Amino acid sequence: MRITDSAATRGKMRRTLRGWLWLGLPLLLLASPHATAQQEIRFDVLGLFHPRELILQPEGSQVLLVAAQGDAGNPALVLNGEPGHRQIVFRAEGDRVVAGDRSASSWTAAARDNGAVAFRLTVPGKFHRVYCARLAIQARKGQLLAVVAMDRETAVASIVAAEMAESSPMEALKAQAVVTRSFLTAGSRHLNFDFCDTTHCQFLKSPPPLTSRVTSAVQATQRLILAYRGKPLAAMYSSRCGGQTHSLRDVGLRELGNAPGDAYPYYSVRCQWCRRHPATWQSKIGSSGQPPKPGDERRRIAEARQWGWSAIPGSDFTATADGAGWLLEGHSAGHGVGMCQMGAAGMAAAGAGFREILSHYYPNTELITQP
Ligand SMILES: [Zn+2]
Ligand SMILES: [Zn+2]
Repeated sequence: MRITDSAATRGKMRRTLRGWLWLGLPLLLLASPHATAQQEIRFDVLGLFHPRELILQPEGSQVLLVAAQGDAGNPALVLNGEPGHRQIVFRAEGDRVVAGDRSASSWTAAARDNGAVAFRLTVPGKFHRVYCARLAIQARKGQLLAVVAMDRETAVASIVAAEMAESSPMEALKAQAVVTRSFLTAGSRHLNFDFCDTTHCQFLKSPPPLTSRVTSAVQATQRLILAYRGKPLAAMYSSRCGGQTHSLRDVGLRELGNAPGDAYPYYSVRCQWCRRHPATWQSKIGSSGQPPKPGDERRRIAEARQWGWSAIPGSDFTATADGAGWLLEGHSAGHGVGMCQMGAAGMAAAGAGFREILSHYYPNTELITQP
């Protein structure tokens, strides 16, 4: 193990600075403890619902200060759960966000000290989620864009809670925590925020309680990430590899964000658990001309956009002509690149530690500590 270089830290601080500037908060705030605390990560959330309206409520006894951009002369609105201060409804009007009788280009919400606070965000009639973060809301063409900024470890815990059952073996949860932290540390995947909360980036649940086994796994691996040639690895993983994981070349992909040749190639490794527990799926899809091609992840994603995400659950399958379409049969779930989550749980149940699991699925990487 070794400490990472300061360039990575500087990059993170730049990202944090960009985040604060984007939130429209004065530079003066950079002197506050929150601005210099650990890395903050910005997620675009609930975008799948294309919300025109969002309801903001404090969670529990939390107090939120809500401010409109360009509203420096007016006191912030207070949400503290008391009558008249229970919720704010934001509505998109073109590129403006309206709350009550006030309209602004963007709104922010945070704790009194401008730090993270627990709040509930609801898409009326559809969905709600709790975040421990700072919030910024903008609008584009009548749709609200909500970005939550939270510290990295809260993000890691929220993602592990979404990606793995809390009852999974502890060493598998730890391996997932390191993989998730590595992905978040390797760099942004969007321009105006870092990650989205869809399959494109990372699922994100409400943060697990302190007593959760997920929280324990995150705390036990604090600051640990996977690196390749000294750089954080945007570690890929899938749910069930089918018995053998794939290299990027196997599935026609290359690592995002890296120059060709500098990318971690991934390796095809055996997965004992999947070999001992074979599972098959069958699916019927319509014809889009050529037969679906196994082992081509770009093609699978394109087919999934046309036929739905459950139409081709994994990259390994056989395709047989069936009437006007195709009958697909496969053994894997996901792209099969990097850690196999079922395999990791199997290794952990058999006594492997998280380090052993990670070195099995990510050969030639190292574990390093990040500040
Ligand atoms: Zn994304
Ligand atoms: Zn597997």
